[in-house]
Amino acid sequence: MRVKQQPRSILVTGGARGIGAAIVEAFLEQGHTVAAASTSGAAPQGALGIVCDVTDPASVDAAFGQAEEAHGPVEVVVANAGITKDTLLMRMTDADFDAVVDVNLKGAFNVAKRASRAMLRARWGRMIFIGSVVGLYGSPGQVNYAATKSGLVGMARSLTRELGGRHITANVVAPGFIETRMTAELPEATVAGYQAAIPAGRLGQPQEVAAAVTFLASDAAGYISGAVIPVDGGLGMGH
Ligand code: NDP
Repeated sequence: MRVKQQPRSILVTGGARGIGAAIVEAFLEQGHTVAAASTSGAAPQGALGIVCDVTDPASVDAAFGQAEEAHGPVEVVVANAGITKDTLLMRMTDADFDAVVDVNLKGAFNVAKRASRAMLRARWGRMIFIGSVVGLYGSPGQVNYAATKSGLVGMARSLTRELGGRHITANVVAPGFIETRMTAELPEATVAGYQAAIPAGRLGQPQEVAAAVTFLASDAAGYISGAVIPVDGGLGMGH
């Protein structure tokens, strides 16, 4: 197997804030070169900020082009960009469903497809998808969101079967309730309810998700593929 020393060229979608920004910062701390692609193009200090809409394959292609020009072929990709449009099934519009599928699932497909080119050429790569505990646990009011997150499991496992022989791994990190803008929007009672159900008794921090992601990207994780790694304080165990 090809052994390459740091720094690696890494691209994180949705790297502008929340969990994505924590992932970018963790990789930067390890000495990697990191591109953060998001709709705003904002990025933690030290990363290359790129404007990108993951729903648009041309925009994803251009973002990879910019990252490659600055840092060389992308070796590790983290499909983290995600949105929610929560409401109960009866009230969920087609637009609510389609928008979440477009960003969370089609966006991950666009990113994985573009990333696979250089990874196949290099015969080495790491694809990491940010799923969610609700992908396997389910969640009322999140029929659209949970479906996209379980979809990522099928995607990563199919990619593992397609690309595993080329030293390319594909895994899902499934966070539970992490303190970010996404969870700040939840009603207080909902958060309290979840907190009571989490064995750890608290919400998680973005850095705790980033730690699992950097591990999966490391050489030490080369034999882990098609896995769903929970980072959820024990909320989803068994699911
Ligand atoms: P945030 O809402 O804080 O950040 C989302 C990021 O995604 C932003 O940087 C945003 O860009 C970017 N983004 C949204 N739409 C697009 C798009 N079309 N193209 C490119 N970038 C886009 O989310 P979190 O940090 O909380 O969540 C990150 C991931 O973790 C998501 O996939 C989410 O589903 C998942 N997750 C989060 C949990 C939580 O508790 N917070 C729990 C489980 C999973 P911009 O900054 O430009 O708006």
